[in-house]
Amino acid sequence: MIRIGQAGIPLSCKGRTNKDGLAYTKKILDLNAMEIQFVRGLYVMSDEEALFIKDFSKENDMEVHVHAPYYINLAGDEDEVTMSFEKIKNSVMMAEKMGAKIAVIHPGFYGDLNEKKTMAKIIKNTKKIVDHLKKEKIKTKIGLETMGKQKVFGSIEEIVNVCKEVKDIVPVIDFGHIHARCNGCLKERADFEKIFDKLKPLRLRHYLIHLTGVLYENGNEYYHLPIKKGDMPLAPLIEIILDKKYNVTLISESPLLEHDAVYIKLQVEKAIMKRTGKETAYYKDLSEIYD
Ligand SMILES: [Zn+2]
Repeated sequence: MIRIGQAGIPLSCKGRTNKDGLAYTKKILDLNAMEIQFVRGLYVMSDEEALFIKDFSKENDMEVHVHAPYYINLAGDEDEVTMSFEKIKNSVMMAEKMGAKIAVIHPGFYGDLNEKKTMAKIIKNTKKIVDHLKKEKIKTKIGLETMGKQKVFGSIEEIVNVCKEVKDIVPVIDFGHIHARCNGCLKERADFEKIFDKLKPLRLRHYLIHLTGVLYENGNEYYHLPIKKGDMPLAPLIEIILDKKYNVTLISESPLLEHDAVYIKLQVEKAIMKRTGKETAYYKDLSEIYD
């Protein structure tokens, strides 16, 4: 299955609540996923809105994820870790109320620590959170995002390693970040395959993927670009997804949000048409190419 959506309330949606955004994503855009953003401080959502999101997504086969506030440091000093725990717990509690599948977090910074010590600290602290969530019987999973800057913990190898060590943590594959961090290494099919190979030991049944164009220099992300303005191709990734029948959710994090989500959808449909030889395709219908 391929799900497609955007990170946040669509730009073209008049209503500016997440509830409005989700309904718009379904009814107007005909997309089937959305990542709700709590990124700039913790947005407080009423129980009523959370419940609406839960019911609406269930009834309309929408998949909802949540992005926790950006500034989280699970490798920081005691105060920073405590603050990060609070942000994560709050985000996850709200995610759970909404019936969200994954709460995406940024793991943290190396600071003065070396890679090994940072890794140990992040593993220890994510374990603590997972234990807490288990105790609270929370179903929403924590997703650790791959990060696009050298001084930030979160290469694909590091994220896979934490996910190996901490059960119930899933990776969030931000291809824009991976591309920036390796200074533009994602050029062709084999380059994307290498990333999926690294993920293989986790035996994932679902991949949450972030997509955007990205401006970078010396292995560091500067900012997000519209997909067409970036130099990371989409076609090879879509080919792999269709060939391997991967169960994916593709979230547009480009500045054009839903416009690029719709662009992704059109690219997927183009790839389906190439395979079926037909003149139409629908991203939700993979029956002809999957069996
Ligand atoms: Zn992120």
